[in-house]
Amino acid sequence: MLAVSVRRAAYRARAQLRNRRCFGALQVDARFQCPASHGLGRVRIARRNAAIANKRPPREWTLSNIAKMKATHRRFQFSYDWDREVTTCEPDYYRWNQWFFLKMLERGIAYRKKALVNWCPQCATVLANEQVVNDGCCWRHETTRVEQRALEQWFFKITQYADELLADMAQLEGRLAGARAHHAAQLDRPV
Ligand SMILES: [Zn+2]
Repeated sequence: MLAVSVRRAAYRARAQLRNRRCFGALQVDARFQCPASHGLGRVRIARRNAAIANKRPPREWTLSNIAKMKATHRRFQFSYDWDREVTTCEPDYYRWNQWFFLKMLERGIAYRKKALVNWCPQCATVLANEQVVNDGCCWRHETTRVEQRALEQWFFKITQYADELLADMAQLEGRLAGARAHHAAQLDRPV
């Protein structure tokens, strides 16, 4: 039990360090391009599971975490322009995600099909490849084996825009030019 709680503490510490590093880098950018905008508050399945584990409604749990994170950022004296804050779990934001999704559905760009996914039986959710660690275990439950499950999923036919994307990215200069090579390789196109 102690080992599990030490691992959880280490995981939390890593997550917090990641946040500091991530938001710290944004802050460096903000110093140059003030006022910076800021987005918080995705309600992902992991957060829903955390809300269940803590016996709190997901909305309340997420908003209280946002409040804590903002207080921390203020303590760090990050200079975000909070008037430009985006809270992605609020309807005034995600209604536009839904609008875009419906447009993609109408045009056949969003579609469903069955495919294999990484599934953690403890999280009861899908994991990205990089969330599978220690030779096939969940990053949150480091002793739980991740299973392969065939699930019906949503896909976006983004390759339909590959030519347009690469043509526009050809205009990028300096260190951003490398991004085009990265995308071309992912799309299996010549660099
Ligand atoms: Zn898990």
